[in-house]
Amino acid sequence: MTDPTPSGLRFAVVGAGMAGILAAIKLQERGERYTVFEKAGRIGGTWRENRYPGLTCDVPAHAYTFSFAPYPDWSALYATGPEIQRYFEGLVDRYGIGPAIRFNAEVTGLDWDETGHTWTLTLASGERQVFDVVIVASGVLHHPRLPEIEGLDRFAGPAFHTARWNDDAPIAGARVGLIGSGSTGIQIVTAINKQVDRLVHFQRSPQWVMPVPYHTYSDEDRAAFRADPALIDAIRFSDEYMGNVRRFTRAIMDIDGPDMKQVEDICREHFETSLPEGELKEKLRPNYRAACKRLIYSWCYYQEVQHPAVHVETGRIARVEPQGVRMADGTLHELDTLILATGFRADRFIRPAGVTGQGGLTLDRFWARRPTAHYAVTLPGFPNFFMLNGPTGPVGNFSLIDIAERQWDYIDQLVDLIRRGEARSVAPSVAAHADYEERRIAAARRTIFGSGCTSWYLDDEGVPASWPWSYDDFADAMSRPRLEEYDLFGGQVPA
Ligand code: NAP
Repeated sequence: MTDPTPSGLRFAVVGAGMAGILAAIKLQERGERYTVFEKAGRIGGTWRENRYPGLTCDVPAHAYTFSFAPYPDWSALYATGPEIQRYFEGLVDRYGIGPAIRFNAEVTGLDWDETGHTWTLTLASGERQVFDVVIVASGVLHHPRLPEIEGLDRFAGPAFHTARWNDDAPIAGARVGLIGSGSTGIQIVTAINKQVDRLVHFQRSPQWVMPVPYHTYSDEDRAAFRADPALIDAIRFSDEYMGNVRRFTRAIMDIDGPDMKQVEDICREHFETSLPEGELKEKLRPNYRAACKRLIYSWCYYQEVQHPAVHVETGRIARVEPQGVRMADGTLHELDTLILATGFRADRFIRPAGVTGQGGLTLDRFWARRPTAHYAVTLPGFPNFFMLNGPTGPVGNFSLIDIAERQWDYIDQLVDLIRRGEARSVAPSVAAHADYEERRIAAARRTIFGSGCTSWYLDDEGVPASWPWSYDDFADAMSRPRLEEYDLFGGQVPA
């Protein structure tokens, strides 16, 4: 049990997305002193920034909620982006954390003071504040990756990344080009195919699609969820959902085992039975193993892509011209709007903020080879610096909310060392982290993510940047930090 007495420590939380809101709620409940710094004018993180048509969380809605804040009002098995944004906004009000959030406050620097065991936080405005503990909740997929295609800036119509949606761009009745067939691109196809005059979907790599059920919740369902939260628990903790999470993470590790065979069989059968023989089917046939890239979870993609307005273009793009996209074979696709569903730079995290830890060690230098963190949460050389959804955490088709909650439990136990006066600051030892990273890299190379495809999961050396062990291993690791792996600095002698 943790001591519920406020510690007097000063906490800075960077980011007011899902993970930052989680941290704020937890700190608020303990009566701790904290400030959340948010670069934008609203909370929500990924759910604020992404507003593309079809934006849906492909994790079942009742599993994509905080364990302590079930939500009876979801509209469907899978929630839309706007309702998830409303859920988080509701929590900010309900838990009274709004006053602690500073908006339009971009953190540009964090500097460790060895003597004081404090972080000096600098904002873009130049303002500085001193904190004892920093919680980095800055998200992963928030730096758009624009394709390096010649002439992109010469397109006559609107051309924009999916995370910078342009509401004025013609879609209905228009000729629309869409580059990219990740989870985002596929969702957009299913949302706009019936509105457009023509949708040219430029697909560099086809995707494996995991079929999932879909249904809306009726008013009666929602009333029942409200009256009896056990009905919500029955969904989010069900064997159907948690069993799938466990099977999926086992499959990722044991790529020739029965769980992966099941994943592959389901995807292959879905592919074979959902599409008629012909050119489109061959364009959509992947040549790598299912789950190597993040699986597309969809109840309708194969059906929607067959809509006559959709043309899947698998040729090589030569360049963008003012009128449209010119293919290497000379074909010109004339377009009114060009959407770039080309993903994100997944190696940025809190950067471009400059972070300097012990002995002048910068985050850029520490991450020169690849972003890494001890059990995805802490960094040697960066005491009292804790990451939520940081590098090497679990990725896949499950709830990052659950991951962040478990990481919070780990962080809170480390902070307890400071609360109890056993240390003024904590960081993993260099040796313990090197051992973790060596084991992680070896295991990650053997996962399905490293089985031969391109994806944002891979770092510059082709190593999957993810947790390579099972869900239960992750839950275990987060339930109790191994204190022998930590250096404790500035401990006080008990009176
Ligand atoms: P992504 O998975 O990284 O996909 C980017 C797409 O753009 C890929 O198809 C890629 O092709 C293509 N591409 C990149 N550069 C290109 C170029 N120069 N020319 C042609 N094609 C190019 O990005 P995303 O779809 O935005 O998804 C990112 C992640 O966000 C997802 O994996 C998921 O974790 C998360 N997400 C989740 C949901 C959800 O429902 N929970 C929804 C959307 C996104 P290649 O494959 O050939 O590289």
